[in-house]
Amino acid sequence: MVVKNNMEALIRPQIKNLRPYVSKAIPGCVRLDANENPLPWPHGMQEELLSAPIAFNRYPDGEARELNKALAEATGIPQEGILTGNGSDELIQLIMTTFGGEDRAVLIHPPTFSMYKAAAMVTSTEIREVPLILNDEGNDLRLDVEGIIRTAAQPELSVIVLCNPNNPTGTLFPREDIMKIVRESGKLVVVDEAYGEFAGESVLDEIPNYPNLLVLKTFSKLYGMAALRLGYLLGQSSTIELLNRGRQPFNVNSFSQKAGVLALKYKEEFAEQKELLLGELEKIVATLRSLDSVKVFPTRGNFVLFQPENPEACYEQLIQKGFLVRNMGELPVVGKALRLSPGLPEDNAGLIKALQELFS
Ligand code: PMP
Repeated sequence: MVVKNNMEALIRPQIKNLRPYVSKAIPGCVRLDANENPLPWPHGMQEELLSAPIAFNRYPDGEARELNKALAEATGIPQEGILTGNGSDELIQLIMTTFGGEDRAVLIHPPTFSMYKAAAMVTSTEIREVPLILNDEGNDLRLDVEGIIRTAAQPELSVIVLCNPNNPTGTLFPREDIMKIVRESGKLVVVDEAYGEFAGESVLDEIPNYPNLLVLKTFSKLYGMAALRLGYLLGQSSTIELLNRGRQPFNVNSFSQKAGVLALKYKEEFAEQKELLLGELEKIVATLRSLDSVKVFPTRGNFVLFQPENPEACYEQLIQKGFLVRNMGELPVVGKALRLSPGLPEDNAGLIKALQELFS
């Protein structure tokens, strides 16, 4: 008997109109499109990980105790205030399943990281947008603090997500603005510091003062572990406990837990990598700024947002020259733009040459 395919009729309506996330891969191109750390791991780290005694036939430690202990030492936040996830993407979704859902809304500040919206949609959480404000020169952005606090007063609004530094603009928001929102909104404020290590700024020291503050971090950026999917949330233990109620019991695999412990052990080497990458970024930014027709946004992340006169053509021409950057499409507030993060030093030299040729 042939079973009629009525699967589309059975899908939840909220999911029906979504499209799968597809990341672009162009073989042979240098990847500058995902804000990763392109450098190899510090010497010895991979060998140490591969020779670690991990019981692959056993479920992982669901509480990630060894990793949480190492994170507690590194951050000063007690272990009970730490929750690790399968990438910070998983934690963003966990925040929405815990605090969002039907009849709830999350506040975001476009243009910002696309996963907040995606996570809101799959969890049926409504989205309230309070866009960033562009300055008169059109080359810098800030939070609409008053607008955020006003919108946060809506009873259905439960979560505010602030991305600092912001992806994709690179903007670092002043600490006073963030803390005003934490103090006055009365809602859960998630500060996504995926790029915080590059900016050298964090609000994690404010956690003991505010039960409504969560800081989200990841091993995918400075710590070069994007493939291993490891992120973590820091907050007061009572808030973390609420999130633990709906968490998958074994959400972080044993291999990634061990890799996270090791990455923290190699902290100093990664700090050196940070200096190198920021130096490389500075050279690329200086090149972009030297091109008359290109607008460049100030950045405190490991990436830069820029606007050539014809972003699509520039994107395609860079691919022709072997460099894959991120075509952000039409961004709210700022318009069409491209984003890139540095590659290996030799690749960056090639990129700088390619940019100069394209715009000469
Ligand atoms: N937050 C921000 C701001 C990001 O840019 C990213 C990755 N692009 C993430 C979170 C997700 O990181 P991951 O899931 O790899 O930890």
